[in-house]
Amino acid sequence: MRRTLLSIALAGLLPFCATDAGATTLEQDLHDLTSQQVDDTTEFSLGNSMFFLLHEAGHMLVSEFDLPVLGREEDAVDTLSTLLLLAPNKDAFNTALIDSVDGWTFSAEASEEAEEEQELWGAHALDRQRAFNMVCLMVGKDAGKFKESADDLEMPKSRREECVGEYQKARDSWFGLLKPHMQSGDKKTKFVIDYRSPKSRDLKDYADAARKAKLLDNVATLMANLYALKDGIKLTAAECGEPNAYWSAENREMTYCYELLQWHTQTVANYFRKGEESSDDEAEEKTSEAKPALTKVFGTATARQ
Ligand SMILES: [Zn+2]
Repeated sequence: MRRTLLSIALAGLLPFCATDAGATTLEQDLHDLTSQQVDDTTEFSLGNSMFFLLHEAGHMLVSEFDLPVLGREEDAVDTLSTLLLLAPNKDAFNTALIDSVDGWTFSAEASEEAEEEQELWGAHALDRQRAFNMVCLMVGKDAGKFKESADDLEMPKSRREECVGEYQKARDSWFGLLKPHMQSGDKKTKFVIDYRSPKSRDLKDYADAARKAKLLDNVATLMANLYALKDGIKLTAAECGEPNAYWSAENREMTYCYELLQWHTQTVANYFRKGEESSDDEAEEKTSEAKPALTKVFGTATARQ
């Protein structure tokens, strides 16, 4: 089963998926999808959000524990986010990883379609590189389980073999560095969680969905159980003006933008729509050629198209 970890979160989103008169914006975004596609879109969006939040949690750990970072911090915390999702060896976490790899591919495709300049000077690796770096760790841990993700990215066999050692090195380095900061006893860090009301009407339902899905609460619970952070760190969900997430060391505050949930949801919903259109007048083969990664990830939903 792919859906276990996020089942509570899914239950939070699904009530918004009913279609009737007076539909709200999130409903409108999903209204023409099948229930299976809605489930897959929801799972995809929440999985990607989890990756982003754990990326920001990585920045939080670096600044709160004053950890050394050898190399680019953005790459390092992508690695940590991936390792944290890999560590429990739970199906739903693994699915969140696979979905996040596809999320970077979607993001790269959107940038390419908009003919945006590739920011080679940027703090982050390029989206497609972020996908490859994640998949390297994933196949480094379990080449069989994540084979399809590596196949979809056409990662060479020789690179997959190198990834075994890279995964082990990354795991030992990060978890070794964090070991002195592990939570002990029954103490749990107290976070200040705040889901702020957005001003934009089109984000209102997404804000409700994020709160019902307990996006911030899930990250708080994970971090509180694992690491001896000082109380009072703020986890805030808000309207930001862009699909993103941030960590502010100065304010001890992680911010999750509702636009991120909206972006992933709309992007995948549009992908499904394109697939439907394409299958109407073109051979099914063309659809699967065009989006090999998602054919695998979304399984039965795309197979129907
Ligand atoms: Zn970052």
